[in-house]
Amino acid sequence: MTPQSEDFSAWYNEVVVKAQLVDRGPVRGTMVIRPYGYRIWELLQADLDRRIKEAGHDNACFPMFIPESYLRREAEHVEGFSPELAVVTVAGGKELEEPLVVRPTSETVIGEYMAKWIDSHRDLPLLLNQWANVVRWELRPRMFLRTTEFLWQEGHTAHIDEADAMRETEWALDTYAAVARELAAMPVVPGEKTAGERFAGAVRTYTIEGMMRDGRALQAGTSHYLGTNFAKAFNIQYQDEEGALQYAHTTSWGMSTRMIGGVIMTHGDDKGLVLPPRLAPYQVVIVPIGRKEQGEATAAEARRLGAAIKSMGIRVHVDDNRPQLSPGFKFNDWEMRGVPIRIEIGPRDLADGVGTLARRLPTAEGQGKETIPLARLPEELPQILADFQAFLLARAEAFRNEHTRAVDSWDDFGAQVSGGWALAFHCGRTECEDDIKADTAATPRCIPADGPAEQGDCVKCGRPSPYGKRLIFGKAY
Ligand code: AMP
Repeated sequence: MTPQSEDFSAWYNEVVVKAQLVDRGPVRGTMVIRPYGYRIWELLQADLDRRIKEAGHDNACFPMFIPESYLRREAEHVEGFSPELAVVTVAGGKELEEPLVVRPTSETVIGEYMAKWIDSHRDLPLLLNQWANVVRWELRPRMFLRTTEFLWQEGHTAHIDEADAMRETEWALDTYAAVARELAAMPVVPGEKTAGERFAGAVRTYTIEGMMRDGRALQAGTSHYLGTNFAKAFNIQYQDEEGALQYAHTTSWGMSTRMIGGVIMTHGDDKGLVLPPRLAPYQVVIVPIGRKEQGEATAAEARRLGAAIKSMGIRVHVDDNRPQLSPGFKFNDWEMRGVPIRIEIGPRDLADGVGTLARRLPTAEGQGKETIPLARLPEELPQILADFQAFLLARAEAFRNEHTRAVDSWDDFGAQVSGGWALAFHCGRTECEDDIKADTAATPRCIPADGPAEQGDCVKCGRPSPYGKRLIFGKAY
């Protein structure tokens, strides 16, 4: 495998295929998600879906074909998405009277039905979510990170006023940050996007940004306050308590299969994937060692132990039907595929009632390999996995902090964004953002929600900053 330090992109492209997460799709920019990769998605999805439902949202499913005229009703929305649309013009052997857009996102079609379903203030808030595939014709596709077809959830909600819609927008952002931290062990920074980076049609866009191991930023989820823009375009109106007609305030928010790319690039190393236990298809793999009768005895013990571990609710796999492969090959294979904990059982171990437990990475306390009594393993593993999960988050947080620096001069800015994030003041003008991007390829990732209050002048043009705090700048995926 190409080392990360030599060529991070090449490393990424090799690891996603070798670890059997994906295969290239037949159409440029598409991907086939293989079972090992899809399981990661299912684990993320199950947790996020539970949170969405607990907060009162209901899942629905809208059609993937949207009349082109719907997109045109919101001027900024159509302008933003036009270059990325896939459009169906022929169907059933006939030219269609009206072209159909394959949904790039569903504000428009859902807006049409919100207008139908909402009459009175009693119908609000309307809290919908859908799990779906969407299509955006991306020019620079990358597996998981930017594919032309991707899986996501999209929340769409309608509210009585701005205050209620903003509470929803913030709830979605907080939920994404929690999922990223708690499941993916990604220490993301929540914050608002500048005007230049806003979603097409939104009044305010919020994001969570993670730092990858090459120092680049990944936008891992977004939440939009749409104001009354879509309500006006689709006539989403309600009667207030006095009987007057009012426009609803709407929101939308999405998290996608890009998160899997985030996990790979936050934790992976030159040996391959490193999966956080909460998203690992196999949290523990047991490798029995030995030939012939000895091999049969260790395999039988491995299966017995596997069943005991499984009964603790742990996802475990016993590697007992590849006798043609050496133990060393199997160890490397499971390391490459990112399994957090490996347990080796050799003939001598069996006699002593112990196994060797190897973590995918030595933890901060230097816990790497250790000999452990097999009888104690099932009950000790939950804590060992939780500790490993916490270690990955702390490690990623330390890495991000080491690669983030406050920068006050344009001379320092370029060097800082070449391998990390710069905290800098900015004037807020989109032209100035464009200049920065042209010179350094860096963009404002967000106005960090918890950034300390500070005043200063724009790192590029010297005009005063309107934000009252530093922005995060970095090169982004
Ligand atoms: P948006 O509707 O543009 O706010 O997108 C919601 C989220 O989906 C973004 O924050 C990304 O994390 C993700 N996303 C956007 N485009 C793609 C893509 N082409 N492939 C994978 N994920 C994407």
